[in-house]
Amino acid sequence: AWLDIVAASPYEEVMEVTIVGAGLVGCLLACFLARRGHRVILYERRDDPRERGADRGRSINLAVSARGIDALRRLGLDREVLGEAIAMPGRMMHAPDGTLTFQPYSADRGHAIHSIGRADLNRRLLDAATALPGVEVRFGHRLTGLDPRTGDLEFDSGATTVRARVVIGADGARSAVRATLQALPGTDFSQEYLDYGYKELSIPARDGAFAMEPGALHIWPRGRSMMIALPNPDRSFTCTLFWPHDQLAALDDPRRISAHFAEHYADACDLMPDLVPAYQANPVGHLVTVRCSPWHVTTAAMTVGLVGDAAHAIVPFYGQGANCGFQDCVELDRCLDETGDDFPRALELFERRKADTDVIARLALDNFVEMRDKVGSRLFLAGKRAEHA
Ligand code: FAD
Repeated sequence: AWLDIVAASPYEEVMEVTIVGAGLVGCLLACFLARRGHRVILYERRDDPRERGADRGRSINLAVSARGIDALRRLGLDREVLGEAIAMPGRMMHAPDGTLTFQPYSADRGHAIHSIGRADLNRRLLDAATALPGVEVRFGHRLTGLDPRTGDLEFDSGATTVRARVVIGADGARSAVRATLQALPGTDFSQEYLDYGYKELSIPARDGAFAMEPGALHIWPRGRSMMIALPNPDRSFTCTLFWPHDQLAALDDPRRISAHFAEHYADACDLMPDLVPAYQANPVGHLVTVRCSPWHVTTAAMTVGLVGDAAHAIVPFYGQGANCGFQDCVELDRCLDETGDDFPRALELFERRKADTDVIARLALDNFVEMRDKVGSRLFLAGKRAEHA
């Protein structure tokens, strides 16, 4: 079947493309490249997520919106993915006294963002990628070194070394591929951590039903901090606190935790039977914006490029990190169209996307203030379509 695809490919040369990272963007990019008739090998540091459970306290729900859906649609994956997602046509604001206000994202109730678990989406995209001829995933391979002069990649699994001509780093915000580019003269790089962390909690189903309205992204704006909740297919909600690190650390005993939630999140507190143990057990995540330029380098031996969070990690408040990474795949596919699958030229052309991702990075930072502070006030109208883009 692989040979049939190659024979049917409109492109003269079939490249073997190495993608580092089989997360959301790596898997989707593998689908786009396989569709072009290229052979793709993905190296992923973790074991196959389809064979193990979710990481405790790190489930992460994504709001998938227009950008991401467009990319999925181009591969015929949109219906399948959205079939597992829950539509959220607006925000539900929770005032401190428990008053609820629904703010639709659009006058058209058919327009919605869609809640889906990141791990579920990753598993689905892995299935989609590995179902295509020419795509292979090598789990348990963490990239530890890349030499652009030789094209050699080193992995920690049994000291494996492979040689590649085209390598694309889809290995997330702390990308090892990007570290190689950073070490080269002429590469600009910055990372900016917020003074905020995030922690997940859960609101389980009540009597088999959703304990709150499922058709909304719930927000508890509390000025300096906030909590959000997104619905899950099992009728639970995943809640995420976005709090300053000092505030997260200050709740250091069960009494303080209960008292704080009873005072500031009273309506949610009543729906969280495991609040105290979950708060104590679940880890605190960090929030970072990464900027890097250029995103690619070409030597006599190889071409290296970056996509997704590896190229432009952003804070999650605009709900666009994964959506933007999916759009990267569409744009890179377009650049390959324009260059006749000349990867060095296509990755150079792909840099035109940086202007857009820089803007989204700034909007994501701005939207944190919007979500935690302004959505509860009269000012919300000014930016209420933010997460919907
Ligand atoms: P990742 O998902 O980080 O995947 C990288 C992959 O590379 C992983 O599988 C990793 O194991 C692997 N890897 C890493 N290093 C190596 C190595 N050295 N060798 C081999 N493999 C390696 N985005 C949205 O669009 N909407 C949202 O609502 C949203 N909400 C979010 C909420 C939170 C709390 C957070 C933290 C993020 C949110 N995001 C959201 C952002 C989204 O999760 C990321 O943008 C997205 O996961 C990026 O995908 P990626 O494939 O580029 O990177």
